[in-house]
Amino acid sequence: MAEIRDWKLFETNLGRARQIPYEVAVLPIGATEAHNLHLPYGTDTMQVEALAEIACAQASGEGADVMLLPTIAVGINENTLGFPWTMSFKPSTILQMLRDIVACLEHHRLLKLLIINGHGGNELKAFLRELFRETEVQIVLVDWWTVDPHAMQAIFEDAGEHAGEMETSLMLHLRPDLVEMENADEGKAREPHFTGMKEGWAWIARPWDVLTTNSGVGSPEAATAEKGEQFLNRCAKKIGELIVEMADEQLDEWYPYESD
Ligand SMILES: [Zn+2]
Repeated sequence: MAEIRDWKLFETNLGRARQIPYEVAVLPIGATEAHNLHLPYGTDTMQVEALAEIACAQASGEGADVMLLPTIAVGINENTLGFPWTMSFKPSTILQMLRDIVACLEHHRLLKLLIINGHGGNELKAFLRELFRETEVQIVLVDWWTVDPHAMQAIFEDAGEHAGEMETSLMLHLRPDLVEMENADEGKAREPHFTGMKEGWAWIARPWDVLTTNSGVGSPEAATAEKGEQFLNRCAKKIGELIVEMADEQLDEWYPYESD
């Protein structure tokens, strides 16, 4: 029989959890949205949860008392609702959910939180500023796919932005049974009219059904399971190390900096 993983709240129980002086909580947040014609709606959520599990297992193995919280499986997708069955929480809803989760953690006196984000539309920095003076919980935020840009460049020809080579590779590794490669379109996005948008300094919440044909941005053609496994593990390892550092760091007036 498989062993109960004490670092996973969904699996452990009251008796076991009482024995562990949890130091760091980890909250993955994903999305439920169309991913071209070949990847599941749950792509972002499955990816971020798999990565969080690897990172927590590693950190726990190195002695960190970490607690993986249940994944938030719906993200901010107001601008991608043009595709059927995409689910979305408004930013204000996500803020409220984070506020409630943080209040629970504070109540239980678990005061270090790592949020691992798995969806580009989940722009959470402003929320951390909103909560800054409301809570004792110290929150660190990571967009998981940004933690190792060198690995991303080395492993992929063109990682792509949405359901492209990177995400397709990860899903070929994690859930090949859910990937229908033969149905994928080329993942071509429309060019914007505005120079500022072409150059990347003017921003809009992109209407995804106008930007794309079937929601994909980036070609999935060069994707392989091996690339996905490599990239996932490289990113998870770095995040696992971050969890160990967070567990070791004393929560005093200097956190998270060196004291004088
Ligand atoms: Zn995605």
